[in-house]
Order: sequence, then C-alpha cells, then structure tokens
Amino acid sequence: MSQSSRLDIVIAGGGTAGWVAAATFARFLGKAASVTLVESEAIGTVGVGEATIPQIHNLIVGLGLDQADFVRRTNGTFKLGIEFTDWVRSGESYVHSFCQTGRGVGLIPFRQLWLRGCALGVAADFGDYSFNVTAARLGRMSKSAGSNTIPELAYAYHFDASLFARMLRDYAVERGVRRIEGMILDVERDPESGDITALALDAERRIGGTFFVDCTGFRSMLLGKTLEVPYLDWSRWLPCDSAVAVPCESSDAFRPYTQAMARPSGWQWRIPLQHRTGNGHVYCSRFMSDDQAAALLLANLDGAPLDDPRPVKFTSGRRETFWSHNCVALGLAAGFMEPLESTSIHLVQSALGRLLNVLPGDLQRSASARETFNRLSAVEWGPVRDFIVLHYFANGREGDPFWDECRRMEIPATLDEKVELFREAGLFMREEDELFLDDSWGQVMIGQGILPASWSPLADNVPGDDIGPFLESLANSYRVKASTLPTHREFVAAMVGQGSQARVGV
Ligand SMILES: Cc1cc2nc3c(=O)[nH]c(=O)nc-3n(C[C@H](O)[C@H](O)[C@H](O)COP(=O)(O)OP(=O)(O)OC[C@H]3O[C@@H](n4cnc5c(N)ncnc54)[C@H](O)[C@@H]3O)c2cc1C
Repeated sequence: MSQSSRLDIVIAGGGTAGWVAAATFARFLGKAASVTLVESEAIGTVGVGEATIPQIHNLIVGLGLDQADFVRRTNGTFKLGIEFTDWVRSGESYVHSFCQTGRGVGLIPFRQLWLRGCALGVAADFGDYSFNVTAARLGRMSKSAGSNTIPELAYAYHFDASLFARMLRDYAVERGVRRIEGMILDVERDPESGDITALALDAERRIGGTFFVDCTGFRSMLLGKTLEVPYLDWSRWLPCDSAVAVPCESSDAFRPYTQAMARPSGWQWRIPLQHRTGNGHVYCSRFMSDDQAAALLLANLDGAPLDDPRPVKFTSGRRETFWSHNCVALGLAAGFMEPLESTSIHLVQSALGRLLNVLPGDLQRSASARETFNRLSAVEWGPVRDFIVLHYFANGREGDPFWDECRRMEIPATLDEKVELFREAGLFMREEDELFLDDSWGQVMIGQGILPASWSPLADNVPGDDIGPFLESLANSYRVKASTLPTHREFVAAMVGQGSQARVGV
C-alpha cells in the first residue's frame, strides 16, 4: 500500500454550506486533512435558510451536538411539517407532515383504506389520520408521545441561519479549522491539469490547497466562474426567481410548523423562532414587481417588521456537474431549487456524506469517484425538483395568470409518470434513494387535489362496515393523545431552560 498524499482542503465561503462542510470535515477527517475556510464579512451571506427537514438530525447527531444546546444557541423551534394554505382553494389548507399518515391493516396500505373510506362516505380529511398533523394543528410538541398504537412525532427544526453558522464556526475552529477573513479576488489554476491551485485574496495573500470546496453562494466563483461548469436552468418548471425576506416580532401563535401561503404570483413563508418570526415572499418577477412583492409581504406579517425587506434573486436549477477537477460545489454554489420544501441544507449534508467516502485517501483524484459523485448527486436532485414542481403544477388557483401558467406547464416526464400512477389508483413507487417517501408524495398529491380514480383491490379485503369505525378510532386516538402534550411554547421553554423562558414568552 502506498502512502496517500496529504489533503489540504480549502473551503471558499462561510455561509451555512461552508460552515456545515468545515464542521463535518473537522469532525470526521481529523488529522487526515488540514482545513482552511475563507470568508468575507464585506460580502456577507444570503442570510436566509431557516427551515429544515428531519434529516438534519443526522448532522446534529453526527457532530455530537447537544440538542438543547443547539436549540438554545440558534433560537431554534420545532417543525412538524409545512402547512400549505390557499394552494388549491381559497381558505383551505393541508399539511405536508414528516410522519407516516394512518396505520395500514396487515399488508393493506392506509391510503388505500382511506380511499375506500372516501368512496363509502366515511372518511374525514386525510390529515386527520396523521399524528403529526393533529399535534401541529393543536400547537403541541413532544419527543416522547409514542406508544404501541401512536407513532412518535417526527420533527425537524427552524433556526436563525446566522446563529447556526456561528455555532458551526465555533465548533469547526475549536477543532482546528483555520478561518481566514478576506475577499477572494482570483482563482489560480495549474496550466497543465486545469486543477485549482490557490485562491488569491486581497492584500496579496494566497491560499494554496489540494482540494477546493466552492461554498461561495450564488456567485459560484470556483465551479461556475473559474471552471465554467454550465448551469442547468429549471425555471421552466420552477418559475419563481425572486424573494424578499423580512423578520418581524413574534406573534402569540407559536406554531410547530412552517406556513407556506400561496400569493397571486408565488407564496409567502412564515417561520416562528424563539425571538422573532422569519418571513419571506417568493415570487415570479414576470408577474409581480419587486415593490409589489415587498408591499404584499409587509401587509401580511403577523407582527411589526424588525428590518427593511431584503431582496434575493435566483434561478432554480443546478450545475451540470457538482464536482469538476479538484473542486466540489456545495450549497447555492451547486444550485438552488427554491425554498418551498426546505431541502437546500439537506442537499449540502447528503453531498458531504458522499464526499467523505472518497476524501481521506487518494480517491479524490480518481475520475470514477468524481463521476460516481456527480451521477448520484444528479439522481438525488431530480426527484426533489419533481416534488417541488408538483405543488405548482397541481394548483387550483384558476384566474391568477401565474398559477394558470403553472397548471398548464409541461412537467418533467418523471413527474408526469408519478402523477398518472397516483391518479389511477393512489400508487407511488419510490425510485432509487429518493428523498421524499411514499407518504410525502401521497400527502402532497391529495393535498393539492389529485384524487385517485380508484383504490387498490387490496382494500376490499376489509369489510366495508369496518372502515368507518377504524378511521374514526384512529383519528380520535390521535386527537386525544395530542391534546395531552405540552404546547410548542412550553416544550421549547422546558428545553432551553428556565433562564431563557422570557425569550419564548412563557
Ligand atoms: C429565499 C431563500 C430561502 C431559503 N430558505 C431555505 C430554507 O428554509 N431551508 C433550507 O434548507 N434552505 C433554504 N435556502 C437555501 C439556504 O439559504 C442556503 O442553502 C444556505 O444558506 C447555504 O448558503 P450558502 O452557504 O451556499 O451561500 P451564502 O450564504 O451566500 O454564503 C456564501 C459565502 O461565500 C462568501 N463569499 C462569496 N464570494 C466571496 C469572495 N469573493 N470572497 C470571499 N468570500 C466570498 C460569502 O461571504 C459567504 O460567506 C433558502 C434560500 C433562499 C434564497
């Protein structure tokens, strides 16, 4: 066995992506690599990205962070799912929750029993059979609600993005990551191989390395600008290209879920944190001006604004490849699929998981490692894109030109197949390692008004007269149990400790 050469990793950019990468390398590569991160306070970070999905636990557990400390230091709150309001009919909402809906009978999936219950006129709203949704609607949260018949609540977090990055920065620096404050002015390359050799900074500083991680956000200075990896533009399917964000004072409602409220040319998010509420309006600039979008957001806050609205421009899509030469892009430098399902931070984590397999030795020089990484990353991004497109395509907002256009768009063939299969018999077949599972697709398809024409014959194995009582007892047990749980406010206050109760208003 030959001795592998030393790995000098240089991370360009210190937003969420850069510091998640630095903390992960510090934790898992140890002395096998030296890690340097360059960031520029003058440029700053995108400053949004406050909602997550449950896979964030892998990061928190992997880094060995204490949950209460994490929630305390990031002003974090809990997220049981996303409530979508007005996407199908005005005044109606549904929740895409993180928990399995209902309980199958033997091998008969719950959704099929529910569909038969609908035909028999004995089924209530699909969300009534989700423990997460029931607890979310009642504003309850617990980590130990489960029993033989009740599932545990499945949750993620909301947090302050800048506090999260700072926490990871402290973590990484304590474990040996070198942080350099400076502006990257140029990227140097080896004239023969084309590999990146160094970042040229202001004040004539030069940061050399053997492996580079581009976390420079939308600028994509290394992978995009220097290595000229083209961008795949997905705006024909995800037409929103703008957002405006503003924090506001907390309201009395301290919801354990994200709100995503449809607006005439996009949608508005509301994310409750301990000390404030995060708000943003994502919209399509072909249908609404920036001033109109900001005004609409300010008119729909549930607390006084704490800052001026901040605009962000983007194009949904991704780099054709995520790894070129000796450089991998993570976060916004790799691509962005708009924030509707809070998937960006997860995509950073999962890319790091793939990268860690090949980084420590010399594998990072192998063309097959690079190609495999690129192929698996592309496989991961496709279904996530389709899942987000589904929300736009299957809208019911007739008469809003933006939404009319979305309903008429030609969707990706991969999504078309899923919609057709679901329409026929409520079926979903998971491909490869798709991020969103059967239940997520089912909740969103039904929530967006795609109701299957029929149910699987499997559901006919249960006598018709038994279905109504079965459904009712399930929903009732969830309701009764959820109403005994602490409120979200009580739960967070208990976790962050007595000294912090004032912050969450208990
Ligand atoms: C409107 C909106 C809402 C979002 N909501 C969510 C969400 O709810 N959940 C989620 O998971 N994700 C969300 N995201 C995505 C999320 O914000 C990003 O994935 C995450 O913040 C990571 O960003 P980043 O680190 O890639 O980029 P940035 O935060 O932009 O960081 C880039 C870094 O590079 C540095 N840099 C750039 N150029 C230079 C240079 N020349 N020299 C030195 N340093 C430089 C900057 O200073 C900064 O440190 C959202 C994104 C947007 C736009």
